[in-house]
Amino acid sequence: MTDPTIGVLALQGDVREHLAALRAAGADPVHVRRPEELDDVAGLVIPGGESTTISKLAVTFGLMDRLRERVSAGMPAYGSCAGMIMLADKILDPRSGQETIGGIDMIVRRNAFGRQNESFEAAVEMAAVEGGPVEGVFIRAPWVESTGAAAETLATFDGHPVAVRQGNLLATAFHPELTGDHRVHALFTQMVRSAH
Ligand code: GLN
Repeated sequence: MTDPTIGVLALQGDVREHLAALRAAGADPVHVRRPEELDDVAGLVIPGGESTTISKLAVTFGLMDRLRERVSAGMPAYGSCAGMIMLADKILDPRSGQETIGGIDMIVRRNAFGRQNESFEAAVEMAAVEGGPVEGVFIRAPWVESTGAAAETLATFDGHPVAVRQGNLLATAFHPELTGDHRVHALFTQMVRSAH
């Protein structure tokens, strides 16, 4: 049986780092920029970057509707930071015209940790990831303001959810792709294999 192909949404953000982390986790990832490329993947990573830019480019490139269709049809997706925002059903403080793909019943607050604390690292204990805490790299990160019943909080920091799973969707406010620790990407790769 061949391994299902995982795509990385390559509109903006730290695409290369996610491709490398997926490779290290045993997957063979591809770039996704065009709607046709989305048809060929069994799962999708949405990188960290700038969610307003990713949102605008997804609309411009004709990807937004197809992304929503695939996600609501059950395609596994993992979003880090800006990617977490893209998977949220609602943004508390969206920029004008900013849209999300949605799928996770949660409300996120952008740039939530504030100016004093724009970027920091912290050990984060994450349910579903064995072997001790993951090194959470937070860069102008969102936090999750509230979750609906279907969304499972996998990790919290400062009293706020920072890792959430709902069905085949996974989101982290932090960037495991920047740490050399591939356990979160291994978890997602496993979710894609199980869903296939
Ligand atoms: N602050 C960014 C946003 O709102 C996210 C930052 C990141 O992905 N590191 O999209």
